[in-house]
Amino acid sequence: MAKNIWVFCEQRDGEVQNVALEPLGVARELAEKTGEKVNAMLLGHNVTDKAKSLIAHGADGVYVVDDANLEKFVTEPYAQAVTHIAKKYEPNVILFGATSIGRDLAPRLSARLKTGLTADCTKLEMDEEGNLFMTRPAFGGNLFATIICPDHRPQMSTVRPGVMKKLDADEARQGEIVVENIEWNTAKFAVEVLEEVKAEKAEANIEDAKILVSCGRGVKNLESAHELAGKIKGTVSSSRTLVDLGLMDHARQVGQTGKTVRPEAYLAFGISGAIQHLAGMEESEFIVAVNTDKNAPIFKVANLGIVADAEAVFKNLNKML
Ligand code: FAD
Repeated sequence: MAKNIWVFCEQRDGEVQNVALEPLGVARELAEKTGEKVNAMLLGHNVTDKAKSLIAHGADGVYVVDDANLEKFVTEPYAQAVTHIAKKYEPNVILFGATSIGRDLAPRLSARLKTGLTADCTKLEMDEEGNLFMTRPAFGGNLFATIICPDHRPQMSTVRPGVMKKLDADEARQGEIVVENIEWNTAKFAVEVLEEVKAEKAEANIEDAKILVSCGRGVKNLESAHELAGKIKGTVSSSRTLVDLGLMDHARQVGQTGKTVRPEAYLAFGISGAIQHLAGMEESEFIVAVNTDKNAPIFKVANLGIVADAEAVFKNLNKML
């Protein structure tokens, strides 16, 4: 019988990614409902020593495939290893981060296991029978659809990075580490990585910023926003409008088709608060909105709302600080 909640824990260059720890955090919450275990899959080469950190972040068991075939992510060997684990242990649920790796691997696994997959989930809930309710934006983000997979197991989902909370590491947590050996079907290995060329890292990493000074169409002078961000050790982000207008790099876009952020402070200047924008920032710890329209939807999610001209607020703050 299918049981337990499993998380594919992504590592890159041997470093476990945040996107692995977030689904691990939500898996822990889901497991409370059913009393199931949370198990992590850790695949790579020379990665076994990372298993303990997954236990500290919520896993009861870590199943490791440590093999030279898994040194770099290539779909087929990874798909073979994950399929081996899924067939052997029959998980009730498998979660992946919705990264390029998770989005590549999860559909392949769902096809091999003949089960469903809900991509890019923003919320996961579970009932006491172990049925997973997978919620994701639908119809251009204008509504949220909750999807179930009642007839097949495992229930599979990719989880949007930045939406769910990872647990703080608890080094005292105990768990089991199991090393798995795979009988590779190398005849199916059609792709070989000859060289890896790293793209230059985007200058702004808005996902890790503690303070975001976020600008929308109502901001006429982006220099003022950059000046304020510099003074308060913040990072400038934006709505999609400024990206579409060519005024901002896509790496700085917050929202459904941009990044999901959860900073300590999100300062929204001249942003109306469209649902697609809110989807990327409403979990921020403290939201300040500055808008000339007192009925702007952004005020519904703001902890502090200022009905004012953005430039006037920038000027005053930049003078004061
Ligand atoms: P507007 O909606 O034009 O709002 C400008 C705001 O500025 C208004 O509230 C106005 O009152 C205020 N304002 C005007 N002058 C001033 C001033 N002087 N001082 C202060 N305030 C002022 N959007 C995203 O942001 N991120 C996404 O990822 C995203 N994905 C999308 C995906 C899809 C499929 C679709 C259909 C849309 C998506 N959008 C996204 C677009 C979204 O619907 C909105 O169009 C967009 O967020 C609006 O950007 P904005 O708030 O900057 O502009």
